Amino acid sequence: MAGKRILSGMRPTGRLHLGNLHGALQNWVDLQNDGSYDCFYFVADWHALTSDYAETETLGEYVLSMVTDWLGVGLDPEKSTLFIQSHIKEHAELYVLFSMITPLSWLERNPTYKEMKEELASKDLSTFGFLGYPVLQAADIVMYKAYGVPVGADQLPHLELTREIVRRFNYLYGVVFPEPVALMTQTPKLLGIDGRKMSKSYDNAIYIADRGDVLKKKVAAMFTDPQRQRRRDPGRPEICNVFAFHELYTAPEKVREIETECRRAGIGCTDCKELLSANVARVMAPVHERLEYYRGHASEVWDIVAAGGARARAVAVETMEEVRRAVKIRYGL
Ligand code: SF4
Repeated sequence: MAGKRILSGMRPTGRLHLGNLHGALQNWVDLQNDGSYDCFYFVADWHALTSDYAETETLGEYVLSMVTDWLGVGLDPEKSTLFIQSHIKEHAELYVLFSMITPLSWLERNPTYKEMKEELASKDLSTFGFLGYPVLQAADIVMYKAYGVPVGADQLPHLELTREIVRRFNYLYGVVFPEPVALMTQTPKLLGIDGRKMSKSYDNAIYIADRGDVLKKKVAAMFTDPQRQRRRDPGRPEICNVFAFHELYTAPEKVREIETECRRAGIGCTDCKELLSANVARVMAPVHERLEYYRGHASEVWDIVAAGGARARAVAVETMEEVRRAVKIRYGL
């Protein structure tokens, strides 16, 4: 596990869907398998509380099912350090120290904060914890002195804040932390079954775990090019969500064929979708096999995050010693 350290986190939202997979998780797996990085991936359960503090009943179940999906798609505890944020109390300590030096104005102007607050208007997010979301995220990242953070574009403002907090900390107390860089990769644009953004809350998601008839039915229900009312109408693959999925799950030559045939109404949407669900099922077969195993072995999943937590903690303990020394809050020890 030599190499540059990579770190990323995900809030526990329960079962993950193909949007999560191709938007982030696949990237995590690729970085892990590249072999040149030391990957730390964690469940941001405290971050989940910043907006879902009133619904903690399902939290444990969500954590378990998310980590199970991680293992299913090929995150490997032998190669990556997988852990749970709340198991490493050091994150909270660093968060407190960072909160002292972070100007409120930096947090209030954060575009992700403003957007999320509007999006989640049904919840009362005028809390201290929600405003402080990126401060906690900064603590997560620099605790492990990560060089790079694989994130989506929506997280860039948070990462910029991390860098600002790091600069301020290093200026005030001496250089302790490196400034992390964002590792952005191109992510394909996949929509939900109904053509809106794929989201658990829209009930339009195809889950990583979906297989068999469930998978077939969902694919069959996918919106296609609205101009293809009849079988003989030519289609436009470039605006068809089914086609976007084919580009990920179907062999390139076949994809080109579908493209041509769709444009000249040589293939119908029903056949096109049947081909897609068969290909998704085939590509996901090893994932489903692993999922089945871990679903039957939940205690193994908990053991994995406990072991990852021990590895993460060793780093965090060291970092915090250094931090306390730098901040001069280590007297009497
Ligand atoms: Fe989309 Fe396939 Fe129908 Fe073309 S044939 S519109 S690519 S589902």
